[in-house]
Amino acid sequence: MTKGPAREVLLPSGWLRAAWAVPSCVTAFVTTRVGGVSQPPYDSLNLGLHVGDVPESVQENRNRLMKVLPSGTQLQWLEQVHGTSVVDACADGCTRTGDAVYVDRPGLGGVVMTADCLPVFFASSDGRRAALAHAGWRGLLDGVLESTVARFPDVPAEIHAWLGPAIGPCHFEVGQEVLDAFVAAASLDREETRAAFVPTATAGKYLADIYRLARLRLRATGLLRVSGGGLCTVCESSQYFSYRRDGVTGRFASVVALLP
Ligand SMILES: [Zn+2]
Repeated sequence: MTKGPAREVLLPSGWLRAAWAVPSCVTAFVTTRVGGVSQPPYDSLNLGLHVGDVPESVQENRNRLMKVLPSGTQLQWLEQVHGTSVVDACADGCTRTGDAVYVDRPGLGGVVMTADCLPVFFASSDGRRAALAHAGWRGLLDGVLESTVARFPDVPAEIHAWLGPAIGPCHFEVGQEVLDAFVAAASLDREETRAAFVPTATAGKYLADIYRLARLRLRATGLLRVSGGGLCTVCESSQYFSYRRDGVTGRFASVVALLP
């Protein structure tokens, strides 16, 4: 039996499609804050139910997101806790607690919501398996990317990763304790890890490059095919929610799904 080519999902203007070399049956994209019904400070496409927005508005925004996907696609939503647990996506509509979601069935996908933390997309090179991880500095330090890679039966060299929009090195100020924790945890690449932190004019404060830290962590697992990164959610205020910039604000979504 031959299968027709998987159709490419059409995305609203401004949404980012993962630019990576995986088969088109894996759809992977990031929403913006544009095109929803939520009122300030959640304007307007807030997809987070946990941030104080009107639930009916969030539901309408989620309906708009679902309309972008082929009908029948089910998404696994997460309650994210800055941990390292990987949830297997289910089609039962239940939200599950974890910071990564793993998908290995067509018609199923997963969602990670962020507003500065780093969404990391994963897919096997044959396009049969995919995952998405939520990596703030705590999850990154504790190993959420490593636990996501480990969920795949594939060797890491056969997994691709794409880094979505996060707080950039222009704005991600952290304290000495964050640098020290990352350097202490680096089994390899200790000097390169240190180099991901640029001292600011204030003693003990650094501008951290979360993209570089994520690449180092992925490389240490043997996952070398990494693309994406480089945006800044704080700078791009018209496109992205940013907790660091606005405090009370919405969440945009990263979505990965295997097309039916
Ligand atoms: Zn910035």
